Amino acid sequence: MQEFRNFYDLTMDELGALFAADGKEKFRAQQLFKWVYDKKVTDFEQMSNLSKTFRADLPGRFIFEMPRKVSELKSVDGTRKFLFDVGDGMTVESVLIPNDERMTLCVSSEVGCNMACRFCFTGKQKLKKRLTAGQIVGQFIQANESLAKDGLRITNIVFMGMGEPLDNPEAVFGAIEILCNDFGINFSRRKITVSTSGIVPLMHMITDAGVRLAVSLNASNDEIRDFVMPINKKWNLTELLDACSKHAKESGDRVTFEYVLLKGVTDSVEQAREVWKLVRHIPCKINIIPFNEHPSSGFERPADETVRRFQNELIRLGAHVLLRKTMGRDIFAACGQLTSVYEGRPETMTV
Ligand code: SF4
Repeated sequence: MQEFRNFYDLTMDELGALFAADGKEKFRAQQLFKWVYDKKVTDFEQMSNLSKTFRADLPGRFIFEMPRKVSELKSVDGTRKFLFDVGDGMTVESVLIPNDERMTLCVSSEVGCNMACRFCFTGKQKLKKRLTAGQIVGQFIQANESLAKDGLRITNIVFMGMGEPLDNPEAVFGAIEILCNDFGINFSRRKITVSTSGIVPLMHMITDAGVRLAVSLNASNDEIRDFVMPINKKWNLTELLDACSKHAKESGDRVTFEYVLLKGVTDSVEQAREVWKLVRHIPCKINIIPFNEHPSSGFERPADETVRRFQNELIRLGAHVLLRKTMGRDIFAACGQLTSVYEGRPETMTV
């Protein structure tokens, strides 16, 4: 008996290979992508340019399965947070962040995460599940549908939600292929950013996919980074920054460094200088993120004045710096927080 495949898990090349293995024309995959992703038709009967015999075979081979949206919260600042059921009683979050003309969707790639970054809410739970490509694409499709009701659309995608994208590369880069396919959604690769905690040997995959690179830096030297991000013990700052330089050279793009300001740990003016020394040879911008406090993290958010001093020092030295506003505070802004409220006890969630 043939196994059902979830259509949303397959890139066009994979779909074409399935057809080719059955002696069918590869271009059928293009036709199907156009129907499903462009025209949003999933009923094979309605796919009028496919021959009847070809069409008849499809319902026995493919299903269309997306993660089920279990909640959608809207913040007063325009941020929207979605919670998706990805099976086995587990959920992931996606967040839509409005900014000027942009509408950026932050997608999740895993439930839990093995990287154990100390400041991260998601990192407190071990990896429970790696999402499939379809579960990632499904986050985009459903968030975009929700925006479309208000006449808006997603303009940028960042892989910065729950999970380390390079710990689930097959699904992440499969999803990127699906999202960017010209016959389907045709999302621009230039508008997609993959953020990593620093799995150095796989960072070339980001360059190869033609998407942008963001790196969670979060420390100005190895000693502090070993403490806040244990992955640094495996690949240290020298190795990480070499990989960033390589990406910048090969892609011609600037690298985004994310830097979380933790009170008394990563927020001094001396550390701002150290950060600049680390990255000044790499075309980059630095996103400063004042820590978003969550229970039992053990860290605190620095005072606004400390944040300003850190930012000003970097600017004085010549860095391109952005201060990330904390958005969606009223809807569980810290990544993974909504999931933990929901999981296992949805009946208790009052929002
Ligand atoms: S910051 Fe990212 S990589 Fe680190 S534990 Fe959290 S989800 Fe994982």
